Amino acid sequence: MNKRFLKVIAAMLCLLSLTLAFAGCNEQAPVSSEPGEIISTPATEATLPPVLTEEPTFVDFKEYNLDENAEVKNIILMIGDGMGENIIENAEIVKGDKLAMRAMPNKCYVTTDSLSGTTDSAAASTAISCGVKTYNQYIGVDENKQEVETMVEFAQSKGMKTGLVATQIIPHATPAGMVAHTDYRGLYNEILKQMIKTKVDVLYGGGSEYTETTKMLKRIDDAGYTYIKTADELYNNELSTPVLGAFSWGGMYAGRLPSLTDMTASALELLDNEEGFFLMVEESYIDITEADLDMEGTIKEMKSFDECIDYTLNWAQEHPGTLVIVTADHETGGVIVPEDKKPENVNNDCFTSGGEHTSTNVPLFAAGAKASELFSEDLIDNTDIAKIMRKALG
Ligand SMILES: [Zn+2]
Repeated sequence: MNKRFLKVIAAMLCLLSLTLAFAGCNEQAPVSSEPGEIISTPATEATLPPVLTEEPTFVDFKEYNLDENAEVKNIILMIGDGMGENIIENAEIVKGDKLAMRAMPNKCYVTTDSLSGTTDSAAASTAISCGVKTYNQYIGVDENKQEVETMVEFAQSKGMKTGLVATQIIPHATPAGMVAHTDYRGLYNEILKQMIKTKVDVLYGGGSEYTETTKMLKRIDDAGYTYIKTADELYNNELSTPVLGAFSWGGMYAGRLPSLTDMTASALELLDNEEGFFLMVEESYIDITEADLDMEGTIKEMKSFDECIDYTLNWAQEHPGTLVIVTADHETGGVIVPEDKKPENVNNDCFTSGGEHTSTNVPLFAAGAKASELFSEDLIDNTDIAKIMRKALG
């Protein structure tokens, strides 16, 4: 914590000039609000706290020793948005070693198509969370737009705590599919309202564009949430649940603080309890940088995810009864591995789908409580993940 605090202070000093530059900027960003709503906070990117940054780095590869025998109490589901097998291998070429997820002893592949064909993140999240195939754009509803039980709702019915952490805006497709119900993923205000109403214990990500309105702030307050919006508050506050942290106007590329690991560390601390918890953690920007045909950016996101997985496996090692699952919602970019496996050959030429999602099967890694028993098949469907998580919790 001390190290983090110093980091924040140093970064704030470095960014003082940037803040002063912003002060002279009166440009109004568009505010997405509900009809007739008064915006109390003149929220724009420029009026938010200064952006703190720290370049992500790969962690050293090591083996972990997670207890497989304990009954499953906690589930940590880690999703790399758009993270296919080949981007993992390319990241390893750049790293010059294996990624942390390779130390997870159970591996299988997952089919990802939705009823629309190649899936989007909404239908994929619905499949993983609810166990049903649905159409692209649908969140927590089946093909007939009927609501189906989400993973957060299931966990809550078991008396467990729940948390959603993402680097995208909080109501974005992947976290949304874990809790909400709507036939259009773009209804961010509606999705956020549902997340607050369902009282997910920890909600961390970007998206103050959607939280910083009179009505939404009142909802957050009425539901008893502690509302935070800076890395500083995340690191230094004596937080308790429920807590909602919206740390940027939009989403957060890797390198921006708080990092995915910082948010995950805080969530784990807050969620750990006798009755167990379900936590979903999403590295959201692997997909976005792949769609932008930006290999350098994608590798940076992979570094951030590698660090977060390492942190989580270390945590799980100290907390028997924890099942850790690392997978993807779909592949993005049609990524290929260069024939000559040199770091300099991991470049934008490795993208072959013009930035589009593909139907390529994605890998799934599992470690911890009952992992080998639960993930004994070589090939499963994304809807099976929902079923396996429910089976794990009895
Ligand atoms: Zn996705």
